[in-house]
Formats: sequence, C-alpha cells, structure tokens
Amino acid sequence: MVRQVQEGLSREAAKRLRFVPGLVYVEEGAVRRQSPEQREQTLAQMETLLQATGFPYHLIHLEEALELPPSILQPGPERAGTSGPSYKEAVDSFIQQQRQDGDSGTSQPTPSTPARPAGPPAAPRLPAAARTQELLRAFEAAATATAREELLEMLRTHLIVQTARDRGYAKVMMGESLTRVAVKLLTNLSLGRGAFLAVDTGFTDRRHGDVMVVRPMRDYTAKEIAFYNFYFSVPTVIVPPLFTKRREKLSIHQLVERFLLGLQEEFPSTISTVYRTGEKLSPEPAKAHSEFHRCLLCLCGLDTYGEEELALEPTLIFEEPAAGVESKAAYIPLLCYSCRLTFKELGPLATLPPYMRAEGQRRICRAQMEQRPGVQ
Ligand SMILES: [Zn+2]
Repeated sequence: MVRQVQEGLSREAAKRLRFVPGLVYVEEGAVRRQSPEQREQTLAQMETLLQATGFPYHLIHLEEALELPPSILQPGPERAGTSGPSYKEAVDSFIQQQRQDGDSGTSQPTPSTPARPAGPPAAPRLPAAARTQELLRAFEAAATATAREELLEMLRTHLIVQTARDRGYAKVMMGESLTRVAVKLLTNLSLGRGAFLAVDTGFTDRRHGDVMVVRPMRDYTAKEIAFYNFYFSVPTVIVPPLFTKRREKLSIHQLVERFLLGLQEEFPSTISTVYRTGEKLSPEPAKAHSEFHRCLLCLCGLDTYGEEELALEPTLIFEEPAAGVESKAAYIPLLCYSCRLTFKELGPLATLPPYMRAEGQRRICRAQMEQRPGVQ
C-alpha cells in the first residue's frame, strides 16, 4: 500500500494523489512472544524501511493502549470539510517541495515536518517491562484465542485512530487485502457481527466520526500483492502470530482462514465469491444517536434492541460478586451482541485497559442517574 501511495504521489502518475501521507506502525511484539532483543530487531528493521519512504512516520507500541484516553470510545466531532486551510497549505508546500526536489535531481520526497529527526535511526526503546506485563495480563486473562484476537484488533484500531486524531489526519488507510476482507466477513459472521459486516469490511468506515477509515487494498488478493512485492522488490517485515496457550483450540479467525484458503486451493473463485457477496451489503446499518445506542467497544449502533430475551441469553453474565459499577455484568447493556460474547470471555475488569473501564463506568453512572426518578 505504501508503495502504491508513493507511485500515486510521484511526478509521473497520471492522476496524482494530493495528500501528505504519514505512516503508523503498531509494534505488537509483547503479545507475539518476541523477546526484547527480537522486538528491538523488528523495530529497527521497520524504522529503516519507514525512513526510506521519506514520509513522516510514527512507531507505536501496543503497550501504549494502556494510556489511551476514554474519548477514543466516542466518535470525534465531524470536521467541516476534510481539508482545512492549514491542511491545504501543507499539501501545497509538500507538492512544491517535491517539485523542487525533482528539479534538483533527487526523487525522494522530503516531508516539511518529519515526525522524527532525520539521520541514522536512534536506538529504538521498548516500553518498561512493567507495562508489558500489564498488557500481557489482559491477554492472558482472555479465556479463548478468539477473544484474544478480538482484543488485539480492538486495541490496534484504537491506537491507530488515536494517533490519527492527535496528529490531525482525517483519514486512515488500512492495508487489508481482498483475502483478508473475505476471511473477516466469514469470521465476523461467526462472531455474531452480521449487522456490522458492511462497516467492518466496506471501503469506508465512518464510525469514529472525525477520522475516516478506508480500505483501499481490498481489491487485491493476497497472492496479487505477494507477486507485486516480489517483482517490484518491495521490502517486508514479518512478525510471528499472536501467542496461544498450550492445548488451546484455534481461534475462529484461524479456523475461518484455514477453511477459506483450503477451499480456495480446489475452487479458485471461493475468496472472490465471498468478497463479492460482502459487496452487496448496505453500508450504514442502525445509526446510533446517543452513546446509549452505541456499543462501548466497537462503536457500532447497538443491535440488541427489541431482540427476544432468549436470543440475548447467551450474552448475560450471572455471577455477581460485588454489584455496582465495578461488576462485569453492569457493562453488558453497553455492548452489542458480538462484543458481549467477547467481553464475557475477557478476563476480570481489573485486567482490561484503563480507558475501557473509565468510559464504561462513566456510562453506567450516567445511565443510573437518568433512571433515578425526580433527578433532573
Ligand atoms: Zn460492539
């Protein structure tokens, strides 16, 4: 995707892209069972690769999810027009600079405001070991591999969106290929996220309000991308998969991936058929008008209203040691059907990242206030 953006920004492109890209890399070595040395190594490789692009870049550790603000669980205020004057200026100056660079013979675009000082990469520093332990506790407390995958996906998305929000980027481009979108479609269907398939896998995803997520790579299969990378010698960094506990069942994500890729071997149109089916889904399901109609974790409009009690029963939590704000059961009404199932399989509240607890408790208290008679 980065290579494609570079091509699009080059002087030779027929339809030149007009934006200043920044790159984000979320380093997840902590939950991928990488030793500190391996993590440092991956980071250094990635940094060299990012630096070579000449774009501003941001290296983030998954541990930083523990410091996310609760506001990431709310959509940001929509921006009036995606390009404010300052952004337009930035784009113009960027293009201007590129032109100058081109004239002076260098093809490398030099951003006007690099996120990191240029020069040789400084030795990357890992988060404190205590932070890593805290993050690992959340993942180890998850009862199933499926819940762990969902937690990782959630934290990663929140970190990327928060980075975009902090740095003033209006759009985030995700690199999901057609193959990954097809796997996600079937996985999410199995996870009870049928109502949100279009938001989860469509080209545009506006659930975060001010930051729009787009998936421009969803037209290319993983195979096409592999060939592209091979023929154009695009450098890549490979990281190990999310850790699993011993003798644990595979996650739904892994099962679906194996199933689809296996079927694809014998029936080569499998993945594109699944993908095309997804294309027919309407993009905007239920619109959430208030935070009580929006899922705390995935920010989608709640799909639990008017459901039969029986249908929701699997999502209820009955054990109640200390009722009140600090009980897991109190969170259930704040969540969509699928997030309820995931939430049940996550560990005790104390192991969850603080921003989730803070925002959850705020909503629970607010709901209680509004229910109390005579209080305005
Ligand atoms: Zn949800």
